[in-house]
Amino acid sequence: MVFAPSLAAAQPTPPGEHPTYRIATDITFAPFEFQNENGELVGIDMDLIRAIGEDQGFDVEIQSVGFDSALQAVTSGQVHGMIAGMSITDERKATFDFSDPYFDSGVQMAVPESNEDINGYEDLAGKQVAVKNGTEGAAFAESIKDQYGFTTKYFADSSSMFSEVRTGNSAAVFEDYPVLAYGIKQGNGFKTVTEKEPGASYGFAVAKGRNAQLLESFNAGLANLKDSGEYDEILETYLGADASNNDNSILGLIKSTYPQLLEGLWLTIVLTAVSIAIALVLGAIFGLFRVSGNIVLRAIGTTYVDVFRGTPLLVQAFFIYFGIPTALGFQMSAFTAGVITLSLNAGAYMAEIMRGGILSVDKGQMEASRSLGISYLKSMRKVVMPQAIRTMIPSYINQFVITLKDTSILSVIGLAELTQTGRIIIARNFQSFNMWLIIGIMYFIIIMALTKLSNRLEKRINA
Ligand code: GLN
Repeated sequence: MVFAPSLAAAQPTPPGEHPTYRIATDITFAPFEFQNENGELVGIDMDLIRAIGEDQGFDVEIQSVGFDSALQAVTSGQVHGMIAGMSITDERKATFDFSDPYFDSGVQMAVPESNEDINGYEDLAGKQVAVKNGTEGAAFAESIKDQYGFTTKYFADSSSMFSEVRTGNSAAVFEDYPVLAYGIKQGNGFKTVTEKEPGASYGFAVAKGRNAQLLESFNAGLANLKDSGEYDEILETYLGADASNNDNSILGLIKSTYPQLLEGLWLTIVLTAVSIAIALVLGAIFGLFRVSGNIVLRAIGTTYVDVFRGTPLLVQAFFIYFGIPTALGFQMSAFTAGVITLSLNAGAYMAEIMRGGILSVDKGQMEASRSLGISYLKSMRKVVMPQAIRTMIPSYINQFVITLKDTSILSVIGLAELTQTGRIIIARNFQSFNMWLIIGIMYFIIIMALTKLSNRLEKRINA
């Protein structure tokens, strides 16, 4: 939970120092970035940036946030640069500075192997196509969709986009051809049906006008790797890789993924526990404000509740993680942003629970207590609250469960909690049904445990 000082972006690192650059990447874009069976982030981009770092004397801290989030992370200054199979386009050059190109790519269309009806763009009339937010594939689909009469549906990550087509909701997917070729080789059940569109090459990117030094190092390192042959070795490692034989039964999947799933679950639990603890305090304070006799306090309480109840959690997460740091010029870890978002949000609901609880206690109780000469705060604490808490507990338990489930929304800012972990694993093994079943059951078990525990607590308090 660190508030790092303002971006070191523009400042050159003092000579002799080993800088660490934060680099954003896509969650899943095999063979450029993906997690292997051991949960390590690997791929052409990952190996390249690490090898370049080694060559040029800098360390990298990879933040795997998804493509559209990575774009925002760079422009908002949350990271120093991004490497994510990102195409160098003229449009992007207005916002980003690119390195020398390191890989030639282009968009291609794919459909499930079993689909015999779609053999080209003209067969897409009246159909829906799945694309990924912010990508060249999406831009290409948009550019021809009126001509061929299809609609587009947007996804945040490649894995959901492919699942969409696999389930038959969308007819085809537009994706970079090396990614399609790799997936097909790994047995993802797709085939390509068009020629690849001539496309832009991939480049490493930094925000325009910032981090020129990093960009220079990247170019110098890339040139060295090409000279030494390491660049070709990296490509060969991934492009030459054969499909691995995996056990995709539920038991097999649990066996091969449980260390990662448990890590994700742990982060979910930590996020929930920390956020609920803070939210309880916020809820108590603002709840008391809401029933206070002081008009200013009441206004503060109402504003807080209205703002956080009146906007979606997803928007709050984006605003806190991307918006605020951009505006104020500092950085915040995804964990910090996640906890702030969840606790402010849950706090608003808890303030209402508190207000409801207090109002449920007969007014006479407070009056009687005050008439005995007991102060407002003490009457609140000793007379009203003990009665209020009884009626509040079921609502609190409800809110705990909601907050636990809401942690899954934080996957959008790249927090590898349970849901995000699932997306990453599915990107590698393509087992949507079994994996989401396993993850659903994990959430269910945890929430049942939380409910049982809370019910016990409730009985004890009411006894
Ligand atoms: N090459 C594509 C682009 O730059 C897709 C990149 C990605 O999905 N990671 O838009």
